[in-house]
Amino acid sequence: MLERLVSILYPNVCPICGKTLKIKELLCKSCDKQLEYIKEPICKKCGKQLEIDEQEYCGDCKKYMHVYDSGLGIFAYTDDIKKCIYDFKYNDMKIYAKFFGAKMAERSVDYIKHWDADVIIPVPVSKEKYVKRGYNQAELIAKELSKQCGVPMDNKVLYRKKNTKPQKEMKREARKKNLEKAFIISRNVVKYKKVILVDDIYTTGSTIDECALALKEAGVSKVYFLSLSIGAGV
Ligand SMILES: [Zn+2]
Ligand SMILES: [Zn+2]
Repeated sequence: MLERLVSILYPNVCPICGKTLKIKELLCKSCDKQLEYIKEPICKKCGKQLEIDEQEYCGDCKKYMHVYDSGLGIFAYTDDIKKCIYDFKYNDMKIYAKFFGAKMAERSVDYIKHWDADVIIPVPVSKEKYVKRGYNQAELIAKELSKQCGVPMDNKVLYRKKNTKPQKEMKREARKKNLEKAFIISRNVVKYKKVILVDDIYTTGSTIDECALALKEAGVSKVYFLSLSIGAGV
């Protein structure tokens, strides 16, 4: 009854096309069919989709060593998903977290089982950004994912020290510099041996690597990641 009333007052809309949804629907049926998920073959390290089956790693992962152990992306970085993530981050569409978390849990269920991690940690935003935006988008996804898969979420161990500049336009080396020592561990994380980091977009992996470095320096032995979207591998 209350749920129905809430849905009349605040209609639930499809995150992709904006159509009004039924109660408990996270996405309309036609958009659900059209969404592009990351499919095999994928890079064994970063999870980017590859062109050919015989290839084990993408070009990036062949060239550069990552600090993290391995990870997975859920959606291909298409215009639909780009817009959806943009609205989620900058237009206060926090409601999309349910849809994102559910899809992440559904697509990565085998990996989560296999990784057998102790905790899910969202990639943090800086304090300034948190205050300005009012939330950390990765944390909202991580919370929903945790609800779905049963691995606990901890948002009190990893912090972003300084407000790193937007990375979109930066080259790989510049990105690395920008992130250097940007993450700190606020509390003893030794109790966690295996960690899953959660973020919204994976590009070069430098953000995940920096988080993994901070965690591993503090005694974590395995760092995996799940990213809502990821580009194609070459
Ligand atoms: Zn739709
Ligand atoms: Zn790769």
